Amino acid sequence: MAKVILEHLKRKFNNVTAIEDISFEIPDGEFWVLVGPSGCGKSTILRTIAGLETITSGKLFIGDRLMNDIPARQRDVAMVFQNYALYPHMTVAQNIAFGMEMRKVNPKMIQERVKTVARSLSLEHLLDRKPKQLSGGQQQRVALGRAIARQPQLFLLDEPLSNLDAQLRDDTRAELKQLHQQLGITTIYVTHDQVEAMTLADQIVVLNQGKIQQIGEPQSVYTLPANQMVATFLGNPPMNILSAIYRGDNFDIGGQLLAIPKDLRQRLRLSSGQRVNLGIRPEHIKISNSEVNLQQSKLLVEVKLIEPLGRETLIRVGLFDSLGLLNVQVAGIVRSHPGDNLNLQLDMNQLCVFNPSTGERMFPIF
Ligand code: ATP
Repeated sequence: MAKVILEHLKRKFNNVTAIEDISFEIPDGEFWVLVGPSGCGKSTILRTIAGLETITSGKLFIGDRLMNDIPARQRDVAMVFQNYALYPHMTVAQNIAFGMEMRKVNPKMIQERVKTVARSLSLEHLLDRKPKQLSGGQQQRVALGRAIARQPQLFLLDEPLSNLDAQLRDDTRAELKQLHQQLGITTIYVTHDQVEAMTLADQIVVLNQGKIQQIGEPQSVYTLPANQMVATFLGNPPMNILSAIYRGDNFDIGGQLLAIPKDLRQRLRLSSGQRVNLGIRPEHIKISNSEVNLQQSKLLVEVKLIEPLGRETLIRVGLFDSLGLLNVQVAGIVRSHPGDNLNLQLDMNQLCVFNPSTGERMFPIF
């Protein structure tokens, strides 16, 4: 097990800068998740740590050792890719044992570890099968098992669940979390699935265009996104962004006035006439049954689409004088139809305010 330190790491491919000025320190035993849209540099960071990519500039430490020029095989790192490659002529047991055999681990110990790993990944009954006799999900678990059995000082997982169907993906995600709790091996996990990021991570690193946007605990990144990119990347549906003008007592949103409670007004520190972008999560908007009252933080909208999800309903609504749709997520069933008018009540305590020019969060200030 080991801590991992990246100092101003940069990787350029000819004139493409895949990652730029990446710095963070992962304490020993933590589970960190790298998320971000396609092409943001997640895999490049992982491959650089594994030693599969050279470093253009900056420093990489695993434990206390500078790794920049250390070959991949000497890094004691196990990596699992989305396209796991199992040895087709070997059984499941032999595949799991392979890494340990290469490292000349004592045969008795190998047998024991294969058993333990197979048990924890529900592979015991499949140990004598060859990969082609397994489902995709079972093969993926063997690939994970092979990495786990080696007990490396660092796990690097690159979208390891993306080939699995929804149910298996949920189950394997939970197994992974449990395994990490048992083994405590430092893990870096790449995904663009934000549910995986939220559920697995001790810390999330959100990336965009090769740069770090925010690092933090899942809940804090979700609640207090550093900028609009993070706000709209994490969360499904994402945070709603509304263009508004601050008018002192209210926000003018396309001609509708959204009243600002007095205590919030004092904390906002905006100047009258200032343009801002308001961020509000779909679950922080309620349907209000009372008539529109401009003294309250309400918006009049038109229902465009209703999506019942069983436990909750997702409603897409349009603001009358402004473009774009808002997502509203309410518990239970909503008896409304496209074309209906609704009053929405925003939980103003949950409001984020962003600078419309830079996208940076201006409020809450922390
Ligand atoms: P995805 O989620 O689609 O896998 P990613 O976030 O993992 O994307 P990377 O694979 O790290 O992104 O790629 C980051 C950037 O570097 C992209 O613009 C990509 O085109 C570029 N890139 C990656 N590898 C190479 C390479 N070998 N040669 C040239 N450009 C590359």
